Amino acid sequence: MNTKPINIVWLKRDLRLQDHEPLHKAEQAGIPYLIIYLFEPSIIAYPDTSPRHLQFVYHSIQSLNNRLKEYNRCVDVFYGEAIEIFTFLNKNYTIQQLFSYQESGTKTTWKRDKQIKQFCDNRNIVWKESQRDGIIRGLKNRDTWNKRWHATMHAPIIKNSYSVSELNTLEHSYVVPSQLVSKLENYPKHYQPAGEENAWRYLKSFAQKRGFNYHRHISKPTESRIACSRLSPYFAWGNISIKQVFHFVGTHPNGTANNRAFSGMLTRLHWHCHFIQKFEVACSYETLCINKGYELLAHKKNETDIKAWKTGQTGYPLIDACMRAVEQTGWINFRMRAMVVSFLTLNLDQDWREGVYHLARQFLDYEPGIHYPQFQMQAGTTGINTVRLYNPVKNSEEHDAKGLFIKKWIPELENVPERYIHEPWTMSDMEQTFCGVTIGVDYPLPIVDLKASAKMARDKIWGHKKHPAVNAEKKSILATHVNKRR
Ligand SMILES: Cc1cc2nc3c(=O)[nH]c(=O)nc-3n(C[C@H](O)[C@H](O)[C@H](O)COP(=O)(O)OP(=O)(O)OC[C@H]3O[C@@H](n4cnc5c(N)ncnc54)[C@H](O)[C@@H]3O)c2cc1C
Repeated sequence: MNTKPINIVWLKRDLRLQDHEPLHKAEQAGIPYLIIYLFEPSIIAYPDTSPRHLQFVYHSIQSLNNRLKEYNRCVDVFYGEAIEIFTFLNKNYTIQQLFSYQESGTKTTWKRDKQIKQFCDNRNIVWKESQRDGIIRGLKNRDTWNKRWHATMHAPIIKNSYSVSELNTLEHSYVVPSQLVSKLENYPKHYQPAGEENAWRYLKSFAQKRGFNYHRHISKPTESRIACSRLSPYFAWGNISIKQVFHFVGTHPNGTANNRAFSGMLTRLHWHCHFIQKFEVACSYETLCINKGYELLAHKKNETDIKAWKTGQTGYPLIDACMRAVEQTGWINFRMRAMVVSFLTLNLDQDWREGVYHLARQFLDYEPGIHYPQFQMQAGTTGINTVRLYNPVKNSEEHDAKGLFIKKWIPELENVPERYIHEPWTMSDMEQTFCGVTIGVDYPLPIVDLKASAKMARDKIWGHKKHPAVNAEKKSILATHVNKRR
């Protein structure tokens, strides 16, 4: 039994060694500290989690551990519920302080954090939670948020340093089951590589060259894969901080010549935090309409349509290519995400909750604070934003004119001529024979009529905007989430 006083750094979505306030505070505190990460069964089992998230986390930790070795440190990984692990650690050590970042997560992590707070309070453990990326806990309205966010972004970056630890590794039975470990180790090559070094590699290549066409290619399903920063998974799991990127891109020598591209990207860093701030204030957005007035709208669940959407079998090539690409790679660009959500919720008239966890599991960059508010914005359930219906045929003509993205992800359509690739069902039988595909057999006919379904959606969602329940909610949403002092 070791009852030495120690501190603990609890890593969550902050898997990096630099610009890390909790690690900095632990170093400054002057007593030994442990760094821990918890794989919690309840969170693993939650419907928003997928093996790709856990794999990304696992490999991020591996890369931290490689670099921590020289300080005789490592991230101690535990498998178990947070409360069990903290009870165990508290039996073996006298925990003085617990350091972590605040988490703007789902109801599960929020509930778990409340339990741990109680645990700490009952044992005189001081839990110091640092503010993450300018997200403010307990904020009542947005009047000062922008100013405070900019102040945070312009503050100096924390230069972490590490002392050599004298703590011995603690034996415990909360080891990750070997079956899970082998799943986690086996990281598919078609996902972005995890870890802090890779985050910097992606950031540098964006600023050195990749990002010069950012503003031109951001909506193109193929070109955006190069021109976008692709930093989202690194932000989601904290391999890099928003502030580090804000400083790097904002002061990069290539910025002047590429002002439109770089400032477009910097604006989106602000959006990133803006959305998380919304969710921090109202994590009910995970399961309830942002504007509760939209709960009154009924949707007839259609399992067949939902399955077709999930598996990329809707008969609309760009929708299907996106759903297959995200399944394989974990990433599609903003416009394609918005379009697939618009198709599910507006054209297919399915409740947004039928797809929200599915895409959360698909996105390697799944960030609750962005995902739920964005999903609902595209589904038209906020009551304060203009509802945008994305026409998948028009979008593929405009953004995948030659059908290259479509053909990459839908091999059935590989030989379809350019003029038919956006609407393959318009091919004659003869044309279909020429290109070796029978629409309705090898590739589905469209599962819904675009024009009729768009009209229905407009009438339904637009019409509902005037409902007194929607209007009543609108006022409180605007008061909480919109800056009135612009
Ligand atoms: C339905 C839906 C769900 C989404 N879910 C997520 C999610 O779970 N995680 C996530 O990070 N993004 C999400 N987004 C936002 C956006 O699509 C991704 O941030 C972007 O595609 C990530 O690619 P990138 O890193 O190359 O972005 P870039 O275009 O290079 O932008 C840089 C960073 O800015 C932020 N950003 C960019 N666009 C947005 C936006 N529209 N809203 C908020 N932040 C933005 C991201 O952190 C991104 O990494 C979602 C969008 C929609 C429509």
